[in-house]
Amino acid sequence: MEKKNTWETYSEEQLQEVNVFADEYRNFLDEGKTERECVDVIVNMAEKAGYRELQEVMKEGKSLKKGDKVYAVCMNKSVVLFRIGSRPMVEGMNILGAHIDSPRLDVKQNPLYEEGGFAYLDTHYYGGVKKYQWVALPLSLHGVIVKKDGTTVELNIGENEDDPVFFISDLLIHLASEQMEKKASKVIEGEALDLIIGNRPIILDKKEKGEGKDSESEKDQAKEAVKKGILDILKKEYDVEEEDFISAELEIVPAGKAREAGFDRSMILAYGQDDRVCAFTSLKAMLEVEDTERTACCVLVDKEEVGSVGATGMQSRFFENMVAEVMNLAGEYSELNVRRALAASCMLSSDVSSAFDPAFASSFDKKNVAYLGGGMVFNKFTGSRGKSGSNDANAEYLAHIRDIFEKENINFQTAELGRVDLGGGGTIAYILALYGMNVIDSGVAVLNMHAPFEATSKADVFEAKRGYVAFLKGADL
Ligand code: MN
Ligand code: MN
Repeated sequence: MEKKNTWETYSEEQLQEVNVFADEYRNFLDEGKTERECVDVIVNMAEKAGYRELQEVMKEGKSLKKGDKVYAVCMNKSVVLFRIGSRPMVEGMNILGAHIDSPRLDVKQNPLYEEGGFAYLDTHYYGGVKKYQWVALPLSLHGVIVKKDGTTVELNIGENEDDPVFFISDLLIHLASEQMEKKASKVIEGEALDLIIGNRPIILDKKEKGEGKDSESEKDQAKEAVKKGILDILKKEYDVEEEDFISAELEIVPAGKAREAGFDRSMILAYGQDDRVCAFTSLKAMLEVEDTERTACCVLVDKEEVGSVGATGMQSRFFENMVAEVMNLAGEYSELNVRRALAASCMLSSDVSSAFDPAFASSFDKKNVAYLGGGMVFNKFTGSRGKSGSNDANAEYLAHIRDIFEKENINFQTAELGRVDLGGGGTIAYILALYGMNVIDSGVAVLNMHAPFEATSKADVFEAKRGYVAFLKGADL
C-alpha cells in the first residue's frame, strides 16, 4: 500500500495552523514535565474552556444535562473530563485516553549524602530507560515535598535560564577502557544514577564554630559540610528539613524547553512526548468538540510506564467511579447502566508508536511500522512475543474507524512497534477493553522513544488532534 506524506496534503493555511498548534504543544510540554504539573495545566485549560469540577457540582446538588462539561482529578496525578452528549450515556461514550507520566529518575526517600566533596541525591529510575543516556546532561528537579503539617512545597528548579541545573557524572573517556568493554546495560548501573547537587562546604562563622572549644568539635562541624550546606539552603529557601524527603515526590528530568528540530522546523525534540503528545492532542480535541450525540470523555492517567498500577493508574477504579458519578448526576445511574454505558463505548487508547529509524532499519518491518510524518498511527495490537499482554482491536471496529477517518480526510497509518519477537510494549488499552468496549491503540509516532529527548513530527501532532475530533464526533458502534 502506498503511503502519503502528511505534509504534502496541507494547504498553505493548514501549514500555518500546524505551526501554531505545535507552538502550543511545545508550551504544554514545557509547563508539564511531571504528571502533577500536567494535571495543573490540564485543569487550567479545561476550566478556561468552561469545564467545572465534578465534586463541586455534586456539592451544589446540581444535575448534569446535555452540553454540560465536568472534570475530576485523582490525587493530583490523573484527570478525567466529560462532555454530556444529546443521547443517554447508557448508549455509550466516545472515550479518548492517554498517559501523562514519563520515564525519569525519582529521588529516593532517604536520598541525601556526601561523597568525595559532592552532595548527592540518590535516585531510583521510573519506567524503561537506557541508563547511560542520563549522564552528563543538564537535569532539573520537579515535584513536591509534603511536610508533616500537610503544607506542600512545590519545587521546579532548572528550567529557567538563571536557575541552577543538576547532573550525573560519567567517567572521562581517557580512563574508560574498562567501562567501554561493558554491556550497554551495565555501562551505567541503576545505583550509579545519583544526582550531583552541590560541592561547596557550609561556611560557619566563628561564633557558630564555638570559638575556644576543642578542635574535636570543630572537626565534627566539618564532617559532611557540603551536605550541611545543601540542608542550610533547603531550610532557608524552602523551609524543609532532611526528614521531609520521606514524604516527597521529586522527579529528575532533562532540563530545558521543547525545541523545533531540523532546518525545516518540521519536528519537535523534547522530553516526555511519550505520552504527553497524545495527552495534549486528545485534550485539545476534547475541548474543541461541541454538540456530540454521544457523551465525550477524555481520561489522562498516571503510572502507565510502570504497568498502570496504583490509585492513579488506569487499573484504578477512579475512572469507573467517575463514570458512575456523572451518570448519577445525569439521572441515569444504576449499577447495570454503568456497565452498559462502558460496554457500549468506543475508545481510542492513545500512546506513542515507534517511528521507523533508518539508522536501525533491521529492528523494524518497513511495511508495518509508523513513519514520522505519516499521520496518526493505529496499532491493531501491541504486546510482545506473539502479542502477549496486548489489546487486539476488533476488525469491525477498525473498519468503522477507517470509515470515520476517510470521511474527514485524516491522514493515518497502521503499524506494529517493531520487528516480530524483537521486543514489545503495553499500553492502557487492554484495561479499558475489560469492560467489553471497543478499544484500539492509536497515537503519534516518536523517534528515540524513552530517550531524554524524543522526536515527533509537527504534522503528526496536528493530524492526531484532527483524528481525535473526528472520532469524538463520529464514532458510534
Ligand atoms: Mn507510552
Ligand atoms: Mn512509554
